Amino acid sequence: MTASQYPLTRHLPLTGKAALVTGGSRSIGAAIAKRLAADGAAVAITYSASPDKAAEVVATITADGGLAIAIEADAGNPGAVRAAIERTVAEFGSLDILVNNAGIALGGPIEAIDFRDYERMIAVNVTGTFVATQEAARHMTTGGRIINIGSSMARYAAFGGASLYTLTKGAIAGFNRSLVRDLGPRGITVNTVHPGPTDTDMNPDGGPVSQIVGPGMAIGRYGKPHEIASVVAYLASPEASFVTGADLIADGGFTA
Ligand code: NDP
Repeated sequence: MTASQYPLTRHLPLTGKAALVTGGSRSIGAAIAKRLAADGAAVAITYSASPDKAAEVVATITADGGLAIAIEADAGNPGAVRAAIERTVAEFGSLDILVNNAGIALGGPIEAIDFRDYERMIAVNVTGTFVATQEAARHMTTGGRIINIGSSMARYAAFGGASLYTLTKGAIAGFNRSLVRDLGPRGITVNTVHPGPTDTDMNPDGGPVSQIVGPGMAIGRYGKPHEIASVVAYLASPEASFVTGADLIADGGFTA
């Protein structure tokens, strides 16, 4: 019998786990939600502007035999974020995995940044992550996983006009490092995945950013959302039990 003929037993590493993915209605967040569900987790996603897309993600997971719910929660609204965590715990009985994915990219040259854009970026990318993490930490038990989505831009500025975005992603990386000390003694790991250019609504392959960064991709192409989701799935899994405080770069060699 060849390896490809060998009967597969369905091994689901996240069976019995409950996950919340912020900004799970589209793009990388949707791919993460589907992957965690495929790995056996019950998955809640939050969304802000795309209820139909969120419903599609839930329908896809459900059709595949999984368990999923969508919760409207603007990441820039602390009350809504706290309520989303509480609803997840109420529906699934626990919260074992938090993926802080929701993010936006506003900015421009430093002289031209509108202060309202600054405030919105901090609210969604930084405050949203802080509040979700704080509330999740109150519910998580040993084995918990907090996974942040940073950016390769936090370590390598490939082009101008992104200082505000980089500020928020650098904040996440720093937050991650100290959190490890707070939550490690409780058996909770905290890691950040830093995607490089990935084909999404925010940064479509073929779009304006790709004209600039495309030549810098060592692997010669943009990433796909599922390629970021697979790194998150590893960090969520029992295989990553000794990995905490890590900055995992998944960028096709963009910052190598
Ligand atoms: P998209 O813009 O394609 O999708 C963003 C997702 O986040 C959507 O599901 C959106 O939902 C949700 N979202 C946005 N704002 C809010 C909000 N205020 N509250 C709740 N949900 C929100 O982005 P990507 O998938 O490309 O990016 C996902 C993460 O990955 C971000 O943190 C981004 O910074 C990071 N990243 C992306 C890279 C890339 O090249 N694509 C590279 C490096 C990092 P809705 O429409 O319902 O509001």
